[in-house]
Parts: sequence; structure tokens; C-alpha cells
Amino acid sequence: MVRLIQQSELLVFFIAISILFIVYYFAGRDKKETIIREFYALGTVIQLRVYGNNGEKAIKEAINRLNDIDDKMSVFKEFSEVSVINKNAGVSSKEVSKDTYFVIKKAVEYSKLLEGTFDPTIRPIVGLWRIGSDNPSIPNKNEIVKNLKLVNYEDIIFSEKYTSIGLKHEKQAIDVGGIAKGYAADEVKNVLENNKIKSALIDLGGNIFALGKKPDKTLWNVGIQNPFNTRGEHVGFISVEDKSIVTSGNYERCFSKNGKLYHHIIDPKTGYPSESEIISVTIISDYSIDGDGLSTGVYIMGLEKSIKLIQSLEGIDAIFITNNKEIYTTSGIKDEFKITNDEFTCKTIY
Ligand code: ADP
Ligand code: MG
Repeated sequence: MVRLIQQSELLVFFIAISILFIVYYFAGRDKKETIIREFYALGTVIQLRVYGNNGEKAIKEAINRLNDIDDKMSVFKEFSEVSVINKNAGVSSKEVSKDTYFVIKKAVEYSKLLEGTFDPTIRPIVGLWRIGSDNPSIPNKNEIVKNLKLVNYEDIIFSEKYTSIGLKHEKQAIDVGGIAKGYAADEVKNVLENNKIKSALIDLGGNIFALGKKPDKTLWNVGIQNPFNTRGEHVGFISVEDKSIVTSGNYERCFSKNGKLYHHIIDPKTGYPSESEIISVTIISDYSIDGDGLSTGVYIMGLEKSIKLIQSLEGIDAIFITNNKEIYTTSGIKDEFKITNDEFTCKTIY
């Protein structure tokens, strides 16, 4: 039987609807959008995992910035600023962007600090090996000896006034492959922050920046690759917030011939892949350019010297893995690093 709706029932109905609207509005406001985007740039697979309301715009800007850095610094692009410097080696200096100037300047700072184990003029040797390309090969020893004479970071000529860079001798060539990804990670972080993103994981082929905390307000857990095993297997993980985690390892770009592994980190003293007891080094720092520059040189320096150097640098921590399955961590991260693989032993360095 039909009856008239009473005024009090109507009131309850409206209150219920209003509560529903309020709950829906605030739940929607708090819901953070998650975007995971994978693409190829800087010669590697890049993954951006971005949380927040402005993600799409932030990612678009980040991709543009990465392509811009690649266009300026890649030795594989004929018209990049680095290629133009190289083409004019021994002839004239060339004006470059602030980005390229900053990265090459930093590279030379690290060359000095790392006693020449890091050297951005390594390109003539890297070009001989072609490691990471489809046709790597062991170069002829004479060619290595000849090209080694071209390697010397002290031959890079800077002019602050003209923002120009040159190389002293013909055939010398710069390769910022050992440091540019670090700069790129810092730049992606800046782009995301400018877009008010507070939580993101930036992964430039293993060169990682963990921005803020995870959306659930816990720390990011970043896995440290097992250098003896294929990608994906870890020796442990490190819990961080707002940190760069950069690893240089012998497994990243390499090839085997007659049972011997040849990898892409070249010792500028010999012209051959580095053969120190370190087979992987991870640097934890606030800026990724520092982590990237340090990881490549420290890998070559050997354990004893590297430990001393890292301990002398404020705000820099490291995880070293040696060829006899020992892991050494600096004391600054002893509580943050957790080993998960019992084939390895872990020691803290004080
Ligand atoms: P990845 O690029 O795999 O992250 P690294 O940061 O250690 O690894 O950089 C290795 C790259 O740096 C090489 O591919 C090469 O282009 C360049 N490189 C190799 N040896 C040296 C060196 N001794 N100093 C500076 N750059 C180097
Ligand atoms: Mg590096």
C-alpha cells in the first residue's frame, strides 16, 4: 500500500546521501595515481614509477629531458655536443650547453679524486672493444697501446667564459657513459619535484633514485644485484628515502671468449677490463652524478684504496662485493642494508 513519505524520513535520506558524497570526495582526493612507464633512452631501459596526481605531465617532461641529455651527450649521435668536441679534437674548442659543460667538468673532478682510474677520455679504448654493441671483440694489443696514449683527462681544455670544451690532441675523444646517467637521474628527480611529485622510483638501467618514501610512507627497498647470477637475483636490499643508489658491475655489459669474461669498465692504465677483486660496487649518495662518477672509478681502484676514499667523503656510503663472495658495507648504512643470500658473508667497515 502506498503511503506518503514523512518529512523525517526524507531528512534521513538526504543526510545519508550527503555523507556518501563527503566520503567519496575525500577518498578520491587521497587516492594517489600510480604510473609505471618503461622506455629506452641513454642506451638503456628506463623505468619510471611515479605516484601522485600530476604523474602523466611529470613523466612526459622527464622523457623530454632524458632525450635532451641523450642528444647532447651521446657518442653514438653524430651531432651531439660530445661528438662535435671529439670531431674537433686537436683543432678547436666548441661551445656547449650548461648540461654538457657541467657533466664533463664533474667527470674531470672525479678523475682527479679517483687518481685517473676514472677518465672520460677513455673513448678511443672503449671504441676498440665495442663492449655492449652487437659485435664486441678483443682488440689487437698494439692498437690498445697506441690508443692508450690518447687517454688523459688533463688534456681536456675548459673555458668558463665561453662555456667551451676542447681536446688537446687529434684523435682524443670524450665518453661520458660512466657519469651521464647519474646526471640524468638527478635531472629526472628535479623534473618530478617541480611537478609536486613526492614519491617515485627512477630506474635508469640500474642507476636508481628513490624519491621520497613509498606511497604507504614506508622506505623504498632497493635490491642489490647478485653479480654471479643473472639479472633479478639479489644478494640483499637497502632501505632508503631520497637517495641515489648506483651500481657498477662486471655483469652489466660484457662478453665471454675462451671462458674469460670481458666487461665494460676499462682500466685506463692497461686498456683492458678492470681486474680488481671488486666485481660490483654500489654507491649510496644524495646526488646520482656523484654515485655514478664514483662507482666506475672505485670499481677499478681495488678494495683497500676504495674503502679509504669512500670513508673520507661525507654523505657517501658504499656496498662492495668481491670475487670471493664477500660484501663490505660502510658503517653509515649498516642498519639499512639487509643481506638475503647466505652464499655471501657481510662485513661492516668502520
Ligand atoms: P653503466 O653504464 O653500465 O651503468 P658505469 O657507470 O660503470 O656503468 O659506466 C661504464 C661506462 O663508462 C662504459 O660503458 C664506458 O662508456 C665508460 N667507461 C669505461 N671505463 C671507464 C673509465 N675507466 N673511466 C670513465 N669511463 C669509463
Ligand atoms: Mg658510473
